[in-house]
Amino acid sequence: MWKTIKPILNLGAIMVAAVAFAGCQGNLITSAASSPLDTVELDKHNVLLDTLPDDTVDNGKGYLTNRWRDPVQMPNDTLNPISKDSLARFMRMERRRVRDSVRQELDKLPKHIYFTFDDGPLIGSSAIDSIARAKNIKISAFLVGRHAHMSRRLQRDLQRYKDNRLIDCYNHSYTHGGNRFETFYSNPVGAYEDFDKNEVDLGLTHKIARLPGRNIWIYDDIRRIDLKSGASTADMLYTNGYKVYGWDVEWRIYAASGRPVQSVQEIYTRLRNYMANKSSMEPNNVVLLMHDDMFQTKKGQHLLTSLIDTIQATTDFKFEFMRDYPFRY
Ligand SMILES: [Zn+2]
Repeated sequence: MWKTIKPILNLGAIMVAAVAFAGCQGNLITSAASSPLDTVELDKHNVLLDTLPDDTVDNGKGYLTNRWRDPVQMPNDTLNPISKDSLARFMRMERRRVRDSVRQELDKLPKHIYFTFDDGPLIGSSAIDSIARAKNIKISAFLVGRHAHMSRRLQRDLQRYKDNRLIDCYNHSYTHGGNRFETFYSNPVGAYEDFDKNEVDLGLTHKIARLPGRNIWIYDDIRRIDLKSGASTADMLYTNGYKVYGWDVEWRIYAASGRPVQSVQEIYTRLRNYMANKSSMEPNNVVLLMHDDMFQTKKGQHLLTSLIDTIQATTDFKFEFMRDYPFRY
């Protein structure tokens, strides 16, 4: 019990220290400490300390994630208004202080990485299938049904994905919007039906989608839209039981030559930085986007293997399926 709640205790202590410190800056302490909201905040710590079970930090309640996202909740005390300047100063300091301590706690907890491959089945899919087996890592494939009908080879590669327990198959639309995304999303119902068709055609069992040409996230309490066109389609998918996922980091390799746009070292460093800085959509979870056709050459395949080897040799990142996203602490 003591071991796992200690971090929370520290956070509580820091919170109290922060309020005390703010007192030296002016009249903040009066307003902050006496406000009802602040009292609730401190009570919450006490409740946590008293009643949470041993696995508090590990059971996905999202306490640290929430603290990371919303480090400072300042009371709105209309009786004792604080000057805008001192409030802003306090918020900045407090935000940094809480985030530093939350980051330290998150660093001690498991880190999850998601290798996601878009647009399969394509030439390159069979190599991805083999590499997943050889390295024993989980992989998420966002599939385009139309591609499976382009040749018997691609039909076979789709079946390999389906038969591989290390690969999850998800929805990336049937036509990929014909790569004319503005037109595709200008008819949200038509676009939604394209996803629906894909689900049936490929026999997809997970209600997980990624929109072609859009980095849109809609799941749980999150709704983040990169380009407005596409938002209505994503909302319709969500309303119909789908979770819509984008990506944190993209890796590009020229498909025909296998020459990387970003080297293995560059992409590896980016993944580590995202994990360390908690700059991904969810702290301790990083989603990497790749495309199946990047791995049609031996050169491309070697790069993928090399990235996996580097991650496995030098980090404790766990490879996960998007269906399990996110792990919240
Ligand atoms: Zn795509």
